[in-house]
Amino acid sequence: MNYTFPVTRTTNPKQKPDPDHLHFGQDFSDHMFIMDYDEGQGWHDGRVIPYAPIAIDPASCVLHYAQMIFEGMKAYKTPDGKIRLFRPYENAARINRSGARMCIPPIDEDLFVSAIKAVVMADVDWVPDRPGTALYIRPFIIADEVSFSVMPSKHYHFIVILCPSGPYYAGADGKLGTTKIYVEDEYIRAAHGGTGFTKCGGNYAGGMKASEKAAAANCRDVLWLDAAEHKYVEEIGTSNAFFQIGDEIITAPLAGTILPGITRNSVITLLKDWGYKVTERKLAIDEVYAAAEAGTLGEIFATGTAAVISPIGLLSYKGKEIIINNNEVGALEQRLYDTIYGIQTGTAEDPHNWGMTIG
Ligand SMILES: *Cc1c(COP(=O)(O)O)cnc(C)c1O
Repeated sequence: MNYTFPVTRTTNPKQKPDPDHLHFGQDFSDHMFIMDYDEGQGWHDGRVIPYAPIAIDPASCVLHYAQMIFEGMKAYKTPDGKIRLFRPYENAARINRSGARMCIPPIDEDLFVSAIKAVVMADVDWVPDRPGTALYIRPFIIADEVSFSVMPSKHYHFIVILCPSGPYYAGADGKLGTTKIYVEDEYIRAAHGGTGFTKCGGNYAGGMKASEKAAAANCRDVLWLDAAEHKYVEEIGTSNAFFQIGDEIITAPLAGTILPGITRNSVITLLKDWGYKVTERKLAIDEVYAAAEAGTLGEIFATGTAAVISPIGLLSYKGKEIIINNNEVGALEQRLYDTIYGIQTGTAEDPHNWGMTIG
């Protein structure tokens, strides 16, 4: 089912950023979607309005106890000018799983996807078309009941904002590059029974300290280890991690402490389609280092909406560095990137019907 919403267009359109020098999360489009939730009434009054600051009472629940969740997805332009989303119902399902954990009321999946379509189509001329670029979509829900009791809010706003984003890698031609990753052995991200599987704001605030350590070690991101033993690899920053050892490709299992990435799921599906042995299991960082020593370590890469595939060229753990795959982009990484990015932009065959053309 497709919902429709009233659209109030801006009378003051912004200057669009230079399409050859797009940043991430700095320039926002002309419109946003906003919808209210009231206890007893449910979600109501979805609408597209001009992008603007929102008024929020300083005593709102979200500002003190961080009752909020978000999603991250993209709209892509095809070579013939059409607009596509990638598996948007997966984002709808995930925001509701996050919401169930954070006591935030669910949004009907059709309503969620209709809201995304409505705001993207209101700002359709903001979808960039250079290789590797896309319109990043940030849906989020904040608890804005005025109350200091540590209880689920009775009022929420669901908001969707959009920002054109450039290619993840410096060489603006959309070509992949390798990154250095810092294996964090002190701080942890998520424990069993916690909120690791949700996109809730607090998970990311708690990770910033480790990101600072990674940057100080000249690394781009953090590879988290499990909270109980600081032994098993979990995920990398805001992406999931895959390790090729011998003829096996390993990624951490969905046991509640990692984010169930939609790119992760797509990669597992494609690898199985292609006849690879993919295993979701616990993998000790020591096993990765031993494989490097033994010469059986293949490619290591991160997967997520931002970069699709991010090849890792170096790991740094307790002061010991290993070089992965000669610090080069691997054949498998390139094939996965080309296939998924091709499906997203409508240039590759889409056997699982992951792409959704919306305009
Ligand atoms: C969003 C996110 C991912 C990747 O999810 P995708 O759906 O593939 O974009 C992985 N880990 C964390 C912590 C995330 O926030």
